[in-house]
Amino acid sequence: MAIRKVARMGHPVLREKTRQITEAEMGSPWLNRLIEDMLHTMHEYGGIGIAAPQVHEPLKLALIEFDEDSDRYPDMGEQGLMVLINPVVTALTEQTQGFWEGCLSIPEIRGFVERPSKIRVDYTDESGASQSIEAEGFLATVFQHELDHLDGTLFLDRVKTEPQKTLIAFTDEFQKYGPPETPDAVPASI
Ligand code: ZN
Repeated sequence: MAIRKVARMGHPVLREKTRQITEAEMGSPWLNRLIEDMLHTMHEYGGIGIAAPQVHEPLKLALIEFDEDSDRYPDMGEQGLMVLINPVVTALTEQTQGFWEGCLSIPEIRGFVERPSKIRVDYTDESGASQSIEAEGFLATVFQHELDHLDGTLFLDRVKTEPQKTLIAFTDEFQKYGPPETPDAVPASI
């Protein structure tokens, strides 16, 4: 196992087109090693999700894992480790919800993003089995944030803008003063 360096915004790998993982690659030693490295990297950096492009691998692969007692993401519930291979997300409602998101590739910044509040994700798990999961609330946002990475999209691309105002803040100030002018929003860092 190894901890990999996380690509930060501005590195072209975060904008690259990702490729599907083939059936022959499923369960292979290199894929298992990559998944293990991504898990250790996510833990080292304190993230709750990580996508392969963030560790310089333009592949359709992402991990999600978070627990209830996390300092950085309090009151967000919990989700055991999920390995998402070749995932596809489908919105199940036009209704949206907003969270103050963060990203390991955009450190120290939060931004307010509205996304569909209920989604389905179809994917292959690490054993090679097809899976389908529906998600609501914060988990739905985490999925969409991570799977955006597989399309070269970063959360800042989706930050809500209003006339004369873009909803972005530094993490320190955000924690000190609270979310700027979005009293209903919940702080989240992904
Ligand atoms: Zn991210």
